[in-house]
Amino acid sequence: MKNFLKKLFNKQEVITSTLTITSSNGFHLRPIAKFVNEVKKYDASISLLANNKETSATQVPNILALSLEKEDTFILKVQGEDAQKASEELTLFFKKLMQEDNEDKFKKQIEDEKEFYEAQAIKGSVISKGVAIAKTITYFKERITNSNSISLQEALSQTAKDLQKLYEAHKDKKEAEIFLAHQALLDSDVFQKEFHNINQAIEKLRGGKFESRMLDYQDLKKRIESHMGVERKFSLPDNQDYILLIGKEELLPSEVETLSKLSIKGVILSSGSTSSHVAILLRSFQIPSIIANETINIANQNTLSLLDASSAQFIASPTPQDLEKAYAKIEKLKTEQHQAYEKRFEKLMTKENKAIKILANITNPTTAKEAKEQGADGIGLLRTEFLFTEHKPTIQEQTQAYQEVFELFDDVTIRTLDIGGDKSLPYIDIPKEDNPFLGLRGIRFSLQEQTLFKEQLLSIFKAVGVTMSHKKTIKIMFPMVSSTQEFIEAKKIAKEVAKENKLDINNIRFGIMLEVPAVIFALKEFDKLVDFYSIGSNDLTQYLFAIERTHPTLSVDLSSPVLMETLKYIKANTDKPISICGELAGLETASSKLINIGYLNLSISPKIIPILKNNINNNLHD
Ligand code: PEP
Ligand code: MG
Repeated sequence: MKNFLKKLFNKQEVITSTLTITSSNGFHLRPIAKFVNEVKKYDASISLLANNKETSATQVPNILALSLEKEDTFILKVQGEDAQKASEELTLFFKKLMQEDNEDKFKKQIEDEKEFYEAQAIKGSVISKGVAIAKTITYFKERITNSNSISLQEALSQTAKDLQKLYEAHKDKKEAEIFLAHQALLDSDVFQKEFHNINQAIEKLRGGKFESRMLDYQDLKKRIESHMGVERKFSLPDNQDYILLIGKEELLPSEVETLSKLSIKGVILSSGSTSSHVAILLRSFQIPSIIANETINIANQNTLSLLDASSAQFIASPTPQDLEKAYAKIEKLKTEQHQAYEKRFEKLMTKENKAIKILANITNPTTAKEAKEQGADGIGLLRTEFLFTEHKPTIQEQTQAYQEVFELFDDVTIRTLDIGGDKSLPYIDIPKEDNPFLGLRGIRFSLQEQTLFKEQLLSIFKAVGVTMSHKKTIKIMFPMVSSTQEFIEAKKIAKEVAKENKLDINNIRFGIMLEVPAVIFALKEFDKLVDFYSIGSNDLTQYLFAIERTHPTLSVDLSSPVLMETLKYIKANTDKPISICGELAGLETASSKLINIGYLNLSISPKIIPILKNNINNNLHD
């Protein structure tokens, strides 16, 4: 009886809320069906009111008949025991539905574009959007022997000395065994007597019981050859436009910048992943690029080919109509970019009037200047490992570079060296590892080999001193941190460096890249120590899903709800300032979601700042 009365009484309670159609597809069949399905889960009477008509929210055809288009509104009326809860949950569900529908539209656009051309196309995944029409040539590196070459015998004895030194430097560590093993290998006949046949010896190991030794052989071969002055260099024509096909020859992150200065219109990788450092750099130079799903053989290097990286396809022999369509697409993209560029300095605000900052990921003073030009609100990530790719920088050179960046922006986040994984430097010797992404990388390397780390900190402190830090927000962050202990140790070293050199670092903030999942479950402890976080979504994704970011065939779907849930969890569990500097922040499909979660500082490649700002602005005012 009591229950019956309660039900009767609650039936009187009517909760209404006004909802707006934000999807540009309107409230069409698919989202309506999903919505109705959700409505049926509640013990309440639910209806929709629009255009002076009221209809039950459980009837798909009736809702469809309301013909609700983008920007139309309707009232959701809920009556019954569950009314309050149902109204709140259905409101949230509807908003999510609209957002997803907009994204589906985006995916559909790509699908439609795939059908765009007549000639046969090779499909792939998008690294960096854009369209290129040019001849396609294959990437090739030549073996070059420098004039300062020495004899094989001398090179062998130099290599033996190197290995001995490396062994001594790492004596107490596990990797010392590798150098011992390499010393033994170097003493074997394969290297001492039959080095001229080394390539065959390496190939013989392929597919056999000792295949894993191939890398050791190659490593040693490289050491010996470098003493003999042998280098592998690429030489590409610089007086003609071309699309570059990366086939068997590996493209290294350190080579991308050089390539960007040549007449490259587009790049096709034969393998890899869209979150590798090579991919990130290609995107930052806005070189239209894809990873092809199939092997590409260029039969005729003299005819024009077509790379439509926006729809991830490559056409070796386009028809004249295809070329016409592609030229039109290039023009359209140019116009869109131009319009976005005109508005690049406009400030972005959320509907609640909170400032959104679009920061830049940069590698050196040149890209900092570019970021300024493209309308960046600050620097969210200075990847210092790309500052000096050829030689070890002096303190003076480093200070100069940091100073130039600080002079341009008031808000700069600088990351200490993140070497290891897929990044190497010619003057840094990291012993070969089976799983380099799980090895000596980022702060782990800096804490082991402190000389470079201390030099870098000193250079940053000096640069801060020169550029009058009190007016600026300078933040230093450590990469690949997985425990509070690492942060404590790194900051202790920083303080010691400052003290030894009598430098004031009170205005500098210290934080970490949040890219190792373990940190997520230690946020409370980290919050007591760090001044800020910056989420490295590239690595966070790779470690979360256990899929190597450079893996040739595996990749993570960045639209995975798991990733978004993780980011929501992080945001809800820390009070510290937090930004996102991984590639996710720059994706059209993700940025609005991230802003909705509360990530208002997004750091992205300079060149995409205008277009992303424009997209965010359009979505905010949808
Ligand atoms: C990341 O991991 O998301 C990141 C920004 O750093 P990097 O890509 O240089 O590892
Ligand atoms: Mg990272």
